[in-house]
Amino acid sequence: MASTIRRDLAVRAVVERELLDDHVPLVALLDIETVHTAALALHAAFDEVTASGRHVLHTFAVKACSLVPVLRLLDGFGIGCEVASAGELALARAAGVAPDRIVLDSPAKTVTELRAALDQGIALNADNPQELARLDALIGSGRPRSPLGLRINPQLGAGSIDAMSTATATSKFGVALKDEGARDWVVRAYLDRPWLTRMHCHTGSQGVPLWLMAAGVHAVHELAEEINAAAGRQQIDTLDIGGGLPVNFAGDLVTPTYHEYARLLRSEVPGLFSGRYALTTEFGRSLLAKAGTVLARVEYTKDAGGRRVAITHAGAQVATRTVFAPDAWPLRVAAYDGHGRPKNGGMLRQDVAGPCCFAGDLVARDRELPALEPGDLVALLDTGAYYFSTPFGYNSLLRPGVHGFSVADDGAVTFATIRRPQTWEELITESGGDR
Ligand SMILES: *Cc1c(COP(=O)(O)O)cnc(C)c1O
Repeated sequence: MASTIRRDLAVRAVVERELLDDHVPLVALLDIETVHTAALALHAAFDEVTASGRHVLHTFAVKACSLVPVLRLLDGFGIGCEVASAGELALARAAGVAPDRIVLDSPAKTVTELRAALDQGIALNADNPQELARLDALIGSGRPRSPLGLRINPQLGAGSIDAMSTATATSKFGVALKDEGARDWVVRAYLDRPWLTRMHCHTGSQGVPLWLMAAGVHAVHELAEEINAAAGRQQIDTLDIGGGLPVNFAGDLVTPTYHEYARLLRSEVPGLFSGRYALTTEFGRSLLAKAGTVLARVEYTKDAGGRRVAITHAGAQVATRTVFAPDAWPLRVAAYDGHGRPKNGGMLRQDVAGPCCFAGDLVARDRELPALEPGDLVALLDTGAYYFSTPFGYNSLLRPGVHGFSVADDGAVTFATIRRPQTWEELITESGGDR
């Protein structure tokens, strides 16, 4: 059954089961089958190019969907966690993800966080020379349980979205490899530390083309080979190639695919798959985006200055990037009637606005959609990563519930709650109401 059909059935079931009504005008949905399909595709793509018997640890970048049941689900699909804060580490552990299936990559790890990760044997990538010095002090003359690496910024340039491009000349992430003296410093840093056995790069996220991602991996592989040659042994045994596969927000097609990327890596960096290196990946958006839908009720419609505006319950609180950077993060919007049936025809150019009290709170501008009316529903598509899971607390709007769904062959929809809708009591307490 096509994912679009599953989505339509789920929207219908949401209305029938009153998961969305006048009390709760906003919900988020996650199609479990879409997540499973993405996880299988990731495994298959790397299995195809990896030397048999060599280990690939796929991890999920927790920031893309920081919900414990989602992390547990992915762990069940053979995908661990990449965490970038103590909070994300706590979520991964709460989901039951084993320490040896977690990688810690924050750029601002405190001594407390470093010590905790080392105590638990969690792999981490140091971001910079000062962090490496902290590790020296914590490790002393011992041999750490944690596999340890260094993050390299190959300084290859930006993709189409500056804020998502981590491999620019002046990026805040990793050791800037092309800076004067940096390469020699990195080689020495490894030779002086026999326990430094990994190397990490993540060239960027949405907007970074595949060839640029592959060029980042190429640079890191080349450097690892140079260091291993200088060490006279396979000191670096694992390369962490980051995540960043872009997502197609313009249609239902999954493009580019993990297969395309894995095959590009095989042709551009054949040594990656020689069997000499274990690999770690850290995909986020590409595993979850297509599985998510934000569903909101249209509360009012109006005309202003010749423009039709639909005021809905989905705005900056669940689509923060789209509202603040609309050109970089356009979302598709689908229209349903009050019974949850797809609306077709009667096309009209409209703004789709959210509930927040600022004028720019629009998730779509001048967009041709079936004429929306109060009581209709709008669906923000491809919002499984970095949308409802990372809400913005503006206007004290309640965080929506997130429901996973599955559709049986006969069309029957089953929901499982992933995150309860926030309650007034929780909102008040989190806002200092207990003080
Ligand atoms: C954000 C991030 C990722 C995941 O990026 P996606 O574009 O969501 O795949 C992976 N690794 C690191 C270090 C990151 O910061």
